[in-house]
Amino acid sequence: MAVDVYPVAAEHGELVLAGRCSRRDFLRYCSFITAVLALPPRYATRVARALEVASATRPTVIWLELQDCAGDTESFLRSSHPTPGEFIFDLIDLAYHETLMAPAGSAADVSLRDAIDRAKGSYLLVIEGSIPLGDGGAYCAIGGRSAEAIVREVAADAAAVIAVGTCAAYGGLPAAAPNPTSAVGVAEVVTDKPVMNLPGCPVNAVNLAAALVHFLTFDELPAMDEIGRPLFAYGALLHDNCPRRSHFDSGRFVREWGDEGHRQGWCLYEMGCKGPNAFSNCPLVGWNDNTSWPIAAGHPCIACTEPGFWDESSPMYRWMGEELLPSSGERERSDEAIGVALGVGGAAVAAGAGAAVLAHQRKRAHAATGAPDDSSEDGAS
Ligand code: SF4
Repeated sequence: MAVDVYPVAAEHGELVLAGRCSRRDFLRYCSFITAVLALPPRYATRVARALEVASATRPTVIWLELQDCAGDTESFLRSSHPTPGEFIFDLIDLAYHETLMAPAGSAADVSLRDAIDRAKGSYLLVIEGSIPLGDGGAYCAIGGRSAEAIVREVAADAAAVIAVGTCAAYGGLPAAAPNPTSAVGVAEVVTDKPVMNLPGCPVNAVNLAAALVHFLTFDELPAMDEIGRPLFAYGALLHDNCPRRSHFDSGRFVREWGDEGHRQGWCLYEMGCKGPNAFSNCPLVGWNDNTSWPIAAGHPCIACTEPGFWDESSPMYRWMGEELLPSSGERERSDEAIGVALGVGGAAVAAGAGAAVLAHQRKRAHAATGAPDDSSEDGAS
């Protein structure tokens, strides 16, 4: 598959990130992340320049883990070479991350305090996990201080806050009924700073990397929807980009696990798929270097990027009726987001032109990584 070549190579010398990144990898990465951000290809040059500057200045990032399972950290770290994590960790100064750093106990507290003092007002704060407010915050305390108190203190001097994973974004699984710890998302505690939500269980490493690259390139967070999700990743309904969509439109549904339709890669709607209500770019970027993703593996979407996850996604494997289909408002919003991101307008998407443009965007992203594009397989898993 052909790889788009952008005029970056001629303008930049060899960029070696801690000896782990060849220039070829770097240029591929800039092209890929530009496509993920739904930016025109010419922006790859600007992304490359910004990352080159960042590799010299290494902006400070503080990563807090609260009421979580460390799944978002694992998601960010686990993929093949070169990973988004490797690129980003070489570009930033990850000054505090309890799972990854060496100091522990009171030494960790000193590391956090040093990081805040060193980069006051300019650091990015990444938060993983929900914040339990019940019983004075007793359900998540670190060094004798509640998660809420720590978040308030560290957020006070941050340039911006990124909530990774659905727990940090909206409470997630800990907030499922009856929400025994009174868990909430970050934006309910941090109300005087920009908070960007990157939901997902876990967050997709590609989207976190792209959001960080956007911040490094444009010095601001990307455009977001009304619940704080960046439009480049959560602007369109998953259902609109699903490779099984033609089966949905033609009424070909899996009706039992392992039946002929399941083996043929038909639509999973009647098996409980929540894709018609989930805003996510999973079909575009996949998981684990686009090795696969749930629907490609024959599993319905569980809408883990939505604020109602887990309660509103349950039961996971049962068709929940016609009300699951997108409302006209959701339909228009998805068409508009796809149209704006791809420069064709929502009306064109509604008329069907968006599918061709999205296919082109998907091929661009896949070509930049060398990953296979399964879109021509019509959803067969
Ligand atoms: Fe939509 Fe799910 Fe069917 Fe894909 S598998 S077309 S997301 S209902």
